[in-house]
Amino acid sequence: MSGNILPLSSWKWQEEDLVAPDEDVDFNNTLELTSWIVDQLRACPYNDVRSLIEKKKNITRLVQLKQLREKGTIVHPKLHLERQQKMSALAAFVTIDKVNSDPCKQCLHTKSRGPCAECVAGNNNLFNGACTNCQFSSTASACSFYEGKNRKAKKHGRSTSNDDHSSERFYLTPEVLEELTTRELERWRNMIENELDIRNVSCSTRKRPRS
Ligand SMILES: [Zn+2]
Ligand SMILES: [Zn+2]
Repeated sequence: MSGNILPLSSWKWQEEDLVAPDEDVDFNNTLELTSWIVDQLRACPYNDVRSLIEKKKNITRLVQLKQLREKGTIVHPKLHLERQQKMSALAAFVTIDKVNSDPCKQCLHTKSRGPCAECVAGNNNLFNGACTNCQFSSTASACSFYEGKNRKAKKHGRSTSNDDHSSERFYLTPEVLEELTTRELERWRNMIENELDIRNVSCSTRKRPRS
């Protein structure tokens, strides 16, 4: 880790310094929510997250969470601000220039959990073109803006016999787990946790910040 942690007041929204909210964050107040998120991103232990957020001190947009309906109540998606991938996605969301005019297909889908109401994608150097919501959800390669190598086979895309497993069912066995690297395991865990999040909606609309 290099460099000093910059104070939250280094970041501005429309000329005004960001101010850390009180302990009970109002998730419906986009400035308060964004300030709370930036406050955690700027001090997090991940270099990629910090370099993303430090790249732009005048933030580009505020985080407005997607509103999800669960049994008649409005709930917000969980942010999981301890996970590196989610933090880097949010750091990009508040700082990048948006290159897409329409939302990606995943964000349009009724099952999309966001977390942000707006679909924001940068150029191909960032998350291979995937939008920040898809990156957040560990589904970047399924984003309709994704330009990376592992693009899911399109209808007319070329697919070799090696990478077309669509007809095979995959089984997770202890042997398979043992062969995976720690990094791969963490990726799998994130994907599984995300899938569980999608099926199991949290009831909390307010979250206490971590101290
Ligand atoms: Zn999207
Ligand atoms: Zn997307």
